[in-house]
Amino acid sequence: MKEFKNETKCLHSGYEGTNGNPRAIPIIQSTTFKYDSSEDMADLFDLKTNGYFYSRLANPTNDYVAQKIADLEGGVGAVLTSSGQAASFYSIFNICQSGDHIVSSSAIYGGTFNLFAVTMKKMGIDFTFVSPDATEDELNNAFRENTKAVFAETLANPALVVTDIEKFAKIAHAHKVPLIIDNTFATPILCKPIDFGADIVIHSTTKYMDGHGLCVGGVVVDSGNFDWEKSGKYPCLTEPDESYHGLTYTETFKNAAYITKMVAQLMRDLGSIPSPHNSFLLNIGLETLHLRIQRHYENAIKIAKHLEHNEKIEWIRCPALESDKNYDLAKKYLSGKSCGVISFGIKGGKEKSVEFINKLNLIAIATHVADAKSCVLHPASSTHRQLTDEQLDKAGIPNNLIRLSVGIENVDDIIADIDQALSSI
Ligand SMILES: *Cc1c(COP(=O)(O)O)cnc(C)c1O
Repeated sequence: MKEFKNETKCLHSGYEGTNGNPRAIPIIQSTTFKYDSSEDMADLFDLKTNGYFYSRLANPTNDYVAQKIADLEGGVGAVLTSSGQAASFYSIFNICQSGDHIVSSSAIYGGTFNLFAVTMKKMGIDFTFVSPDATEDELNNAFRENTKAVFAETLANPALVVTDIEKFAKIAHAHKVPLIIDNTFATPILCKPIDFGADIVIHSTTKYMDGHGLCVGGVVVDSGNFDWEKSGKYPCLTEPDESYHGLTYTETFKNAAYITKMVAQLMRDLGSIPSPHNSFLLNIGLETLHLRIQRHYENAIKIAKHLEHNEKIEWIRCPALESDKNYDLAKKYLSGKSCGVISFGIKGGKEKSVEFINKLNLIAIATHVADAKSCVLHPASSTHRQLTDEQLDKAGIPNNLIRLSVGIENVDDIIADIDQALSSI
């Protein structure tokens, strides 16, 4: 399906019903797959043939949907995970171990920050956080001998900073490590990070891909472009794996080594798989992704322009606004558009911000974003409350920041709700 455009891939990639079989992706709700001989089974366990034997490692429904996302992102393969958090963890842990180091943008999702700075640190993996605006020199200085990857978000949640992916890729590659990009907010409809040099792309599919607030999930996509052998830093991929009788991933699976190892090792040992039923629901979301993203954007930019000159608003962020500090980056990486999430600060600080969101009716207070239904959050008092004021600043989140996830309702109804709440504070 590589030759088709986004809209067509959203509907057709990943699964093609054969003669007389279902046109919709079937839900293969089975833990187990049966075989005629133990030799058939042995070949699967040795990774000598392709096939399914146990859904902790792989399941056909999950794989159809993963392949659709791989196709949309322009990758050679993908794996669905049970959450976006699992995808972030797998994307890094697949190529590093205790004693290693990662360079990460500081403008990342709060949950990812906790995963990196607290939980993975306990596992002996160190992170250096760099500003997304860091110069090439500053980025270079963050590297160590044991650095194994660079991590950033295309369009950061909730800071809405657009990452200069080409700059990050160039520096990562100069140090012989891959760039991992979390493309959750942009989706492949607005940006395909692989086109700009990213090697691995991940998503929380919980957000726009699902789009209806139904299922928590994630995905890791392998571009197939990173040369693990040439880098020389990844014996886990280029030297024999004892748990598979000395198989070497790069030798056997070539440019799908990274993604194959993720299934063969991490899924086998950690098992963060989504249920096939959730993947089925995710696929329904994917089929309309291109329509929804366009409407999310149209509604969001109208609301941003409406609020831009409101006297009760101190500042507003939407990278598609010409006045936005990242407008040039948005033009380069998001075709001048943005997602449905905008953020703004209410004059009067934290107190007025909380008062404002309490007055909203149609727009719900929810920890969720990137959903068909509009919702709102005050990160400093909810998702990011573990962060100190200094860490909040570093992540680009002032304490009066309100994150508004603009849905696909009629935009006039959303604006009316915002206006009545603003006028009552
Ligand atoms: C929500 C989110 C995550 C975590 O995903 P879950 O599906 O909630 O585990 C990771 N990255 C970004 C950018 C997110 O918005």
